[in-house]
Amino acid sequence: MPVFFAGSWLSAVYKLSESAAIIYLPPALGIILINWWGPKRVLPAVYLNAILAGFFWGIGPWYMRPVYALPETLFVLLSWYLFTFRSHGKCWLPDARNLTLFLFWGVVVPLFASMLFLKLLIFWQMGRPIDMVSSNAILGWLREFISNFGLTLPVLYFLTPAMSRHGLLTMHIDTADVRRPFSITRSFLVGGLCLIAIVFSMFVPPEKYWFVYGILSLWFAINYGFGLAILTNSLFLLATYFGSVLDQTGEAGLYAVAPQLVNVYLGTGLLYVFSAITGRVIDDINFARQQITSQVINLERANNELKVANKELDHFVYSVSHDLTAPLKSIKGLVNLSHLTDDLDSHRTYFGKIGDSVAKLEQFIREVLDFSHIKRIEANYQRISLKELVTGILDDLRYAEGFEQVHIDHSGMLVDEIINDKISIKVVLANLIGNAIAYRKTTPGFPCEIKIRSRRRGGEVVIEVEDNGIGIRPELIKRIFEMFFRGTTNSRGSGLGLYIASEAAARIGGSLSVESEFNKGSVFTLRVKIISK
Ligand code: ADP
Repeated sequence: MPVFFAGSWLSAVYKLSESAAIIYLPPALGIILINWWGPKRVLPAVYLNAILAGFFWGIGPWYMRPVYALPETLFVLLSWYLFTFRSHGKCWLPDARNLTLFLFWGVVVPLFASMLFLKLLIFWQMGRPIDMVSSNAILGWLREFISNFGLTLPVLYFLTPAMSRHGLLTMHIDTADVRRPFSITRSFLVGGLCLIAIVFSMFVPPEKYWFVYGILSLWFAINYGFGLAILTNSLFLLATYFGSVLDQTGEAGLYAVAPQLVNVYLGTGLLYVFSAITGRVIDDINFARQQITSQVINLERANNELKVANKELDHFVYSVSHDLTAPLKSIKGLVNLSHLTDDLDSHRTYFGKIGDSVAKLEQFIREVLDFSHIKRIEANYQRISLKELVTGILDDLRYAEGFEQVHIDHSGMLVDEIINDKISIKVVLANLIGNAIAYRKTTPGFPCEIKIRSRRRGGEVVIEVEDNGIGIRPELIKRIFEMFFRGTTNSRGSGLGLYIASEAAARIGGSLSVESEFNKGSVFTLRVKIISK
């Protein structure tokens, strides 16, 4: 109500006659607010204000004011019904389609209907003829159109997204299609041009040079798009137009200047509409171009990723089939050998070797499954105990070759509970600990030792697995995280372990690194971010 009332009061200041003002704000405010807050809240206020505003205007006897308030209310209602409700128009005008819908269904049609209604009322009440085409009627019509157009476009376009961000709207807006290319330099440009326009209007009569503003606004639209075009339109309207029109009407009275004013109103009004539409279309084209460019970039990126993945897959299939057939061939050979002898001891030896090959196959398949799990399934962050995890891994490794020969010290695990993806951490640690056992020094009597430590550093948890095993040659250290890379001839694995471990670390946003000295030992370090829930 206060907003509407202020609008009515301001309009009354610019009153031309008992039924006309240079600028009439309440319907424009009504359109804006009904789009923001819906008809139930806004329409009663529009109607009530129109009744009260009758006192500023003093039109007709007081008991007729509720009737005279109807055309204005109808205007706002129709605008909402035709544009927002029926056409599903977006009032923040995100594209040319919504802008034209708004101008036609949101302003032009409701304005025509409410003007006709008002004329009928005046005819019925005062017996004045219903004229909709005289210069005076067209003048009124255009005046209303320009008032609505000049205020609603910039407010709806610029303020709706801001209001939505602050939760001040009753409706939801798609922020995806809100784009505001705006810069300080451009704002200065608009300001400067408006100043020039004001000075220009002081010396040059607008009814002669009205088209200059229109052309300027069109130029703005073409170069800077919709936002600046409508802003310039509104500023030009305020800065030059109303001022000078008011001067003239003050001197000569509304009806005296009407015929020239029709041309001026019509010309500027149309130029402003065209410049707004041009600006909107230019923005849409630019936006579409940007979208296409970014889609092309994304497509190229996806294409490259696909190429890499394809190459990896080729390599993977080749190595997997090799790693699967090698133990199978050895099992086949051992079975053939066992057919050649009836000796029980030999059979035992063959079965033992077959058992080794099966274990190798099993280990390999487990690694491949781990890999597929890590690649396919999203990380599931939960509270986990590192100590429990390590105990479980050691339990699984109990029967691994050489397990009894190493002493495992996990007293350095200072951090126990963390929040992270259990499977990823387990895959990393199982590989690191398994390797530390596998690549121990096999010199008889050598005290093999593995130290597992965990601690906080900055925002990270650092987990280290240190061994005093065979170490890694410096020239190989860069390659050990590659897929299927085996660093030594006595590696019994597939060369997948560390690759999978580094993928698992990357999946949870962590990193895996190594420091190693050949013949002395290695320290593998997993760093993960501390996550708090
Ligand atoms: P795999 O153990 O199956 O060969 P990994 O990817 O686990 O494959 O390791 C790749 C290579 O890195 C191994 O072949 C080995 O040469 C080297 N490596 C890994 N861990 C250690 C370690 N703790 N000590 C020495 N060398 C290691």
